[in-house]
Amino acid sequence: MALNRTTPLPVDPGAPATGAQASLYQQLRAHLAVLKLHDAAEHLPAVLDVAATEKLTVTATLERLLAIEVNATEARRLAGRLRFACLPTPATLEDFDYDAGSGVDPHLIADLATGRYLESATNILMIGPPGVGKTHLAVGLARKAAESGYRTYVTTAADLAARCHRAAIEGRWATTMRFYAGPTCLVIDELGYLPMPAEGASALFQVIAQRYTKSSTILTTNRPITSWGEVLGDTTVAAALLDRLLHRSVVLDIGGDSYRLRDHHARTHTLRAAAGHV
Ligand code: ADP
Ligand code: MG
Repeated sequence: MALNRTTPLPVDPGAPATGAQASLYQQLRAHLAVLKLHDAAEHLPAVLDVAATEKLTVTATLERLLAIEVNATEARRLAGRLRFACLPTPATLEDFDYDAGSGVDPHLIADLATGRYLESATNILMIGPPGVGKTHLAVGLARKAAESGYRTYVTTAADLAARCHRAAIEGRWATTMRFYAGPTCLVIDELGYLPMPAEGASALFQVIAQRYTKSSTILTTNRPITSWGEVLGDTTVAAALLDRLLHRSVVLDIGGDSYRLRDHHARTHTLRAAAGHV
């Protein structure tokens, strides 16, 4: 609500004593409110108190007040980016265990974590069997991208195909394509787990093609690229898609045993050993 400057302003309990000072203080609060600098407004009395006790200069006082607003704005923006990103798990790069036998190079991940690949619209393809940490790494990189200020979105190949299918039916194709073109970092998880209808493969191709050379796509799959013709139901579409995806890309071949089944394997091993089978 905009305040009318001619109306008397309510006196703030924490406001300075003299009438002139009090009205100046109220004007300042009103300015902050009009500019929607709510965090600065809220912390104004405390900052003025500190300024008085620590004898801060005007510059230092203003810096302190505006830093509060800037920090709060950045925190809000980060929360917004993380909400938009739809990260499916709390996975972070920091809690990835490089000694689990996946063969992932920690230096490569550390380099990717800097986000430099996003500046050159480099794609990342992660190939490997189920349970080796593909989604974990993809979500970890997506989280880093969002934290570094990049617009980020995580989806699965199946969800992307389903959403594009609905969009085509409801006449929202162009809007949906723009949506997938938007994020600087787009993760498309789990290509190959579910069969893709021809229409889904074509939607995926269009998303990759329109992002080509403009922004990075991180794609994970359990299928080697030699079988993508089969995955996408069309060798020409598969070749065209791979052409764009791999042109500027980092390919992570992730191996090893399933992390999910690790405990299961360990238990089985113990049982077999106990039974004298190992
Ligand atoms: P994928 O996508 O390759 O099938 P996930 O990334 O979903 O596998 O991993 C399965 C589970 O195991 C997840 O909970 C994930 O956090 C965990 N996981 C897999 N690999 C690792 C690893 N190297 N370090 C820590 N956790 C891992
Ligand atoms: Mg996965």
